[in-house]
Amino acid sequence: MGEQKGYVFLVGAGPGDVRLLTLKGEQVIKEADVILYDRLVNPLLLELAKPEAELVYCGKLPDRHLLRQESINELLVAYSQAGKRVVRLKGGDPSVFGRVGEEAQALEQAGIRYEIVPGITAGIGAATYVGVPVTHRDHGASFAMVTGHDKSDNGRPLLDWRGLATIDTIAFYMGVKNLPYICEQLLAHGKPGQTPVLLIQWGTLGKQKVLEGTIATISAEASRVGFSNPAITLIGDVAKLRTKESWFERQPLFGTHLLFARTGSGKSEIAAGLTELGATVFEYPRFQTIWETAPVPSFAEFQEIIFHSPASVNWFFAKLKELRIDIRSLTADLYGASGKSVKAIESYTCLAYPVTKLTRHQQGKRLVIGDERVEKRQLPDYGSYQFCRSHRETVVAQSHMTCRRLLEEDRLDTIVFPSAEAVRVVTEEIKVCSETPASLSSRAAVICFGPASANEARRLGYEIRETLQEPTREALSEAVMKAHFAKGRV
Ligand code: SAH
Repeated sequence: MGEQKGYVFLVGAGPGDVRLLTLKGEQVIKEADVILYDRLVNPLLLELAKPEAELVYCGKLPDRHLLRQESINELLVAYSQAGKRVVRLKGGDPSVFGRVGEEAQALEQAGIRYEIVPGITAGIGAATYVGVPVTHRDHGASFAMVTGHDKSDNGRPLLDWRGLATIDTIAFYMGVKNLPYICEQLLAHGKPGQTPVLLIQWGTLGKQKVLEGTIATISAEASRVGFSNPAITLIGDVAKLRTKESWFERQPLFGTHLLFARTGSGKSEIAAGLTELGATVFEYPRFQTIWETAPVPSFAEFQEIIFHSPASVNWFFAKLKELRIDIRSLTADLYGASGKSVKAIESYTCLAYPVTKLTRHQQGKRLVIGDERVEKRQLPDYGSYQFCRSHRETVVAQSHMTCRRLLEEDRLDTIVFPSAEAVRVVTEEIKVCSETPASLSSRAAVICFGPASANEARRLGYEIRETLQEPTREALSEAVMKAHFAKGRV
């Protein structure tokens, strides 16, 4: 698949929930040099891109109209002719009202190789997430995906309404504005007025909203509550299968949007656990590891080696391999500064001790291996030691863009600080998004893992909603739920 350079993938990003991306979609996003993406693509998906990938927004911007389709086609051709691996990322499925046909045609004409990667279309994804199957043996034998907006007649779609009225389930895309016209036409062509209708806005996302009605009532209801795009209008008897809350909306952390502060490139297991409970989690900022390549000290001279992160452990063993040093030629005792570092050492079948055991085992020359941040710190507990830098971690600028989009779309309502260092990192980095501790505290509930993070957060000017008794997934999910209820969003 696409080994050669200069290749385009036209990819469906799915309707919203990042986990609805296909495996193939994920793979090609990770490998892309350039990604051209639309407004309805979840910004969290862009976090999968390589740190150096070029990301081109093709939606509306305050200072510019939509990038026109011809310009997008030209860009696709130009980037691929320059030898880039290009991903054109579109919401839902690229073949469903996604203009993939026009882009494929442009690539055909320019003789550029491409592949199309399907995605889950909003009509089906949003229906599923509100608990409604688009077909059902008792309620719907046919299903149509229909545009609710067209350029031809003042925005009104030119459709075979008589034929359409005979379809059991209809998903209208882009139809909110023309809802009165759509309902009028279906009624006039024989669809019963009591046919159930669901309007689903931001389907499959934490901010999913549903409005229920019938063909006779939905237009008035939608204008009364000011229902807006992006939404699917789902019409048909299957909509009767909707229960008060769907399986998705019932998840304990449905509707919560967390910024989970991080200090390194590792992923948090607790954050992953919250995702399983229905939360949307954005780990911020994103880090990139840059491995140290300078000459290393002679490891055999040391009696004790202390590792400050699993990454440092991995770097050390990779170095031994590279320099063809057998671990059996070293006599040092190996220590981990955290439980994770100890585990990492043990994964190489070497005995490891926690640093708390260090003084008792003091034997001679000490080497501390860590990243740049450890290097800058004073570590008086270690007495005299030599330092060896294994790597540095730099912030990936893209994560600021993602953060900005989520802030703009009001998709961050909780901030989680797992450590004092995390408080410092986020406070410093998020300045580029024009946010301060005070502004963040007013838009989101701040939750700290313990006294150290809480003290630091308070010192920097955050208003703290909750400090956990214990830094566990259970305690955190409970605190998130409490903050969410307090906001009255559920
Ligand atoms: N290719 C896309 C559709 C693009 S047209 C797909 O297959 O889903 C854009 C329209 O899709 C929007 O106006 C809206 O009607 C619908 N849409 C896209 N994402 C949606 C979502 N998460 N929830 C509800 N409707 C959505």
